[in-house]
Amino acid sequence: MSMNAAPEIAFSSEQGKANYEAARRQYPAQAIVDLKAMRDNMRHLVATVGGPQSGTAVMGVVKADAYGHGLLPSALAALAGGATWLGTAQSHEALLLRQLGIGPDRCHILTWVYNGTAVPFDELIDNDIDVSVGSLAGIDAIAAAARKLGKAARVHVKVDSGFGRNGFTPEGFDAALAKLVQLAQEGVIEVIGQWSHLAVADSPDVPEFVESTERQIANFNAFTDRMKQAGIAPSIRHLANTAATLDRPEIHFELTRPGIGLYGYEPDPAMGTPNTYKLKPAMRLQAQLGTVKDVEAGHGISYGRTYLTPQNTSTAIVPLGYADGIHRSASGFDMEGAKHVDKPGGPVRVMTKQGPHIYHVSGRVCMDQFILDLHGSAAELGIAEGDTVELFGPGRGEEYGEPTADDWARAADTISYEIFTCLRNRIPRLYEHAPEVLAPEDLAKLDPKSIL
Ligand SMILES: *Cc1c(COP(=O)(O)O)cnc(C)c1O
Repeated sequence: MSMNAAPEIAFSSEQGKANYEAARRQYPAQAIVDLKAMRDNMRHLVATVGGPQSGTAVMGVVKADAYGHGLLPSALAALAGGATWLGTAQSHEALLLRQLGIGPDRCHILTWVYNGTAVPFDELIDNDIDVSVGSLAGIDAIAAAARKLGKAARVHVKVDSGFGRNGFTPEGFDAALAKLVQLAQEGVIEVIGQWSHLAVADSPDVPEFVESTERQIANFNAFTDRMKQAGIAPSIRHLANTAATLDRPEIHFELTRPGIGLYGYEPDPAMGTPNTYKLKPAMRLQAQLGTVKDVEAGHGISYGRTYLTPQNTSTAIVPLGYADGIHRSASGFDMEGAKHVDKPGGPVRVMTKQGPHIYHVSGRVCMDQFILDLHGSAAELGIAEGDTVELFGPGRGEEYGEPTADDWARAADTISYEIFTCLRNRIPRLYEHAPEVLAPEDLAKLDPKSIL
C-alpha cells in the first residue's frame, strides 16, 4: 500500500472509485475539484451581497476554463450555489456554455473580449448571450449582427473608469452615447448594463490602492450620470470583482462578478487567507512519485546544477513539469549550486512514517517532472515510488504543512490565478461531490469519467 499525503477522496460510488483508478493509469497526476466547496463558496458570496432577494445578483466568472477548474462543472456548481449570471472573457466559452445545455431559462451569460471586426455577434445574440461593448467599431458590429438577425442585442456598456484596458474613455463617450441612443431607439440594441473593472484589490496596508479604487468608483458613477442624461440609464451596473464583493458593499450595485472567490481563494494574500473570508479552495493538485533513489552529497540535481545535495540523501521524482503548467520560476536553488541564490522551490506535501512533511522543488523544474531532495533516506522515511503527494489543496498554507496555490504563487513569483490557469488539460480534472451538488439532469451533462 503506497502512502498518501492528500486527504481521502469522497467517492460517491464504486464507479467513482473506478474512474479514479482509470485516471491514475492515464496520468500520474490529477486535479481534484470539490464541487461542494465551489457551491458553498458561491453561496457565501451570494450571502455576502445580501442574499437572493437583495437586489444584487452574482455572476460566476468562469473564463479561461473556469480558472482551470473545468468550464461546465464549475458553471453548474456556481449556479447550484445561487449565481444567476455566468461570465466569460472569450465569446467561444459563452457559446460553449449554451451548447452544453445551460439555457437562457437558467441564467444570463455575459462575454466581453473581442475585436469588433470578426466576432460571431450573430451567434451570441441568437443564443441570448449578453455582449459587452467598449468601442465604436464594436457598436457597429453588434448593430449589424442584430439587424441581420432581426433580434435586439442585449448590451453592457463598458467604461474605462481607470483600469486602462477595455471600455470607453470619458472623452470618447459622447460619440458612443450618440450611436447607442440611436440604436436603442430603433430597437436594434437594448442597453442592459454599464460596467467597468477595478485595477487593484484593496490592500488595507496600501492607501494608494484604496484611493485609486475610490477614484474609479467616482468615475464609474460619472459615466452612469451621462448615460442617464442621454436617456439610456443602465438597469444593471456592475463593478465589483471578488475583492470588492468581499470588502466594498457600497459598490455591489445590481450585480457583482467574483471569479477567484468561487474557486476558494482571496484575490491577494495581502488581504488575508481563504479562511479569513470563509472561502474553501476547491482544487487539489496531486501526483504519484516516480523514481525514488539514494544519491551522494554534492550530487547536482536537474538542469544547470543550481542545486547540489548538501548531504547523502534520497531524491524523488514528481512527474509534473512546465509542460503541465508547473512554473519553471518555482524551481529551487541553493547556496552551493551554479547560480548562488538561495531560493526554495514550490512546496510539496509528502507522507512519511512520521506524518506529512513539506519538501520543496530542488533544482530546475523540467518539462515533465521535477525533483525533491528528501533530506534523508527514503527507506527510513518510508517514502516510495507510487506514493501520492500533494502540491496544493484546501489547506491553511505552507506554514501549517498544508500548501495552497498561494504558496506556489509565492514560489513562482506570480498569483494563484496563474497557477490554476496554467495547469494543462493533460492533467485529468476529477470532480468530488458531484451527485450531491448537482441535480440529476446537470450531473448527466458532465463527462461521466470525471465524476469521483
Ligand atoms: C476576471 C474578471 C473578474 C473576476 O475577477 P476576480 O478577481 O477573479 O474576482 C471580474 N470581471 C472581469 C471583467 C474579469 O475579467
